[in-house]
Amino acid sequence: MTQYAVIGPGAVGTVIAHEISKVAAVKLFGRREQQVVLNSGSNDYKINVSSLLLNSDTFDVIFVAVKVTKLASILPALQAMSHDNTVIILCQNGMGQLDMLHEFNAVQAVVYISGQKTDDYVRHFQDKKLILPVNQELQRISQRLDATKLELVVSPDYEAALWFKLLVNLGINTVTALTKNTAHVLELPEVMQLTEQLLQEGLRIARAEGLDFTAQTVQDIIAIYRTYAGDMGTSMYYDTLAGVLLEYDYIQGELQRLARKHQLTTPLLDVCCTLLTGYQYKR
Ligand code: NDP
Repeated sequence: MTQYAVIGPGAVGTVIAHEISKVAAVKLFGRREQQVVLNSGSNDYKINVSSLLLNSDTFDVIFVAVKVTKLASILPALQAMSHDNTVIILCQNGMGQLDMLHEFNAVQAVVYISGQKTDDYVRHFQDKKLILPVNQELQRISQRLDATKLELVVSPDYEAALWFKLLVNLGINTVTALTKNTAHVLELPEVMQLTEQLLQEGLRIARAEGLDFTAQTVQDIIAIYRTYAGDMGTSMYYDTLAGVLLEYDYIQGELQRLARKHQLTTPLLDVCCTLLTGYQYKR
């Protein structure tokens, strides 16, 4: 029987572990042994968390759902809990961090699971979908989890999905983090205009990387932003409120690196990156 593990008992990891537990054995790992409560719909579920440091088991499929800023710190534990055929599914926003897992059989999922963890309480808002690259083993894992509400979509359009999500994050995460405001901030025409211009720069980077995106892509993203509840915060917004490190280096930072590779001029992105670097400085 397939042995599943999930690392990171937060908004994303807890939902994944809870769904898998309906059909298979799964262990949810965090920094310490504890219990978290998952609120989904009108139900509360108590979920046991095991200590990653104390683990001595190996697993066939490991979902990694810590923030990018914590990825390096779990690598020794990940090594110890993997065998030669272990598949690692990195469930994170951003791009470029998969390089840190080059010694593993790892793929990155495009994550559509929306939630928020406060202390030991996880609220799941919507969606339970992970988009994955085409690969027979991933297809098999997806089939095995078919009876759960966790959708593992193995998609030939994976690359476009990863980029689309990156651009969605570029706009909304940047403006909510830098203004320390929720999606309400997009009601200001000047902020919406700035967001759109930032997306235009992201679009040019994506196109330079070979993505078949058009001006319509930016409009599609703006249309998504318009569906957001005004009080919705992004993870980067919550991270600035908490005063912790941001996933900036693998969202805005990665886009800036790619812009430089293609010698693209991205003045707005550069200003945002400078301000976000300033936020991170000596933190
Ligand atoms: P959370 O902060 O809610 O959860 C991360 C969890 O990782 C926390 O429970 C944290 O534990 C745990 N963790 C940190 N360090 C370690 C460690 N060394 N060992 C074990 N566990 C550790 O993050 P999210 O679930 O929100 O985000 C995960 C990824 O998914 C991010 O890349 C995010 O951008 C992405 N994402 C999030 C979405 C969302 O709606 N939340 C939507 C789409 C993508 P502790 O609480 O003890 O610090």
